[in-house]
Amino acid sequence: MSEDSDAIDALPPLREVIARHDLGARKALGQNFLLDLNLTGRIARVAGDLADVSVIEVGPGPGGLTRALLKTGAREVVAIERDPRCVAALQDLIAAAGDRLRIVEGDALEADPEALVAAPRAIVANLPYNVATPLLLGWLRRIDAFRSLTLMFQKEVADRLTAPPGGKAYGRLSVIAQWVAEVRPAFNLPAQAFVPPPKVMSTVVHFTPRPGREEADWQDMERVTAAAFGQRRKMLRASLRSLGDAEALLEEAGIAPTARAEEVPVSGFAALARAWAARR
Ligand code: SAM
Repeated sequence: MSEDSDAIDALPPLREVIARHDLGARKALGQNFLLDLNLTGRIARVAGDLADVSVIEVGPGPGGLTRALLKTGAREVVAIERDPRCVAALQDLIAAAGDRLRIVEGDALEADPEALVAAPRAIVANLPYNVATPLLLGWLRRIDAFRSLTLMFQKEVADRLTAPPGGKAYGRLSVIAQWVAEVRPAFNLPAQAFVPPPKVMSTVVHFTPRPGREEADWQDMERVTAAAFGQRRKMLRASLRSLGDAEALLEEAGIAPTARAEEVPVSGFAALARAWAARR
């Protein structure tokens, strides 16, 4: 590993890689690059010990986080990148990392992580923000396939992911994420940490599968949270009408008919999803 590490340290600085390969950032691809290797190292460390773990990285770009993941000693890194310019720019890193790095050119939304690498596997990524939520939901749906997810989001999305019941940030995303995962905000990054800077602050969030989660079907959870938060200011006896006899559902789930969606904890939504499944 130290040989690889020396070879990675000897690579040209990321600014030079960007200039040499003309990697002008493309907004449509959510390209905001991290060039500070201290920061990419910090993200890699949030993921924990990766020595026996295969890491999938989405969107390596010029390769800053990829370098950090290889240097922290991940068993292997498989990086999915949609932009062929970035794939070309990563060739020197492949040469330095040897068989510990594989680049897959394509769309991460269409990739099957379980087919890409053997378990134990983790995902670590500075996500393209335009597809961050659909990517995350796809991974959360099969969270047990991963040891952890360590992902950069715009702070507003991270706030929703980690919000407790009772506030404005608590919504569908909070319930679904916290139902299947332990969700922990790791640290914030100012917009200036990126090239070019996005309009918003960013937050790294760490997810691990949540043991002993309440039983419920994924689609039923999506359906009840959509109904409840679609009209979040209404009492649930009104907002859940689209699901049938709302009062009966709420009674079965042990939730007051006058409660509003943002007051209901994850366990309450799981009880609602089970009650709805039983009534259909
Ligand atoms: N990891 C790099 C860094 O931290 O500097 C780049 C992060 S940048 C926010 C997002 C990266 O994802 C870009 O390299 C972009 O080309 C890539 N990307 C965008 N959409 C993608 C998709 N659907 N599948 C795979 N990669 C994608």
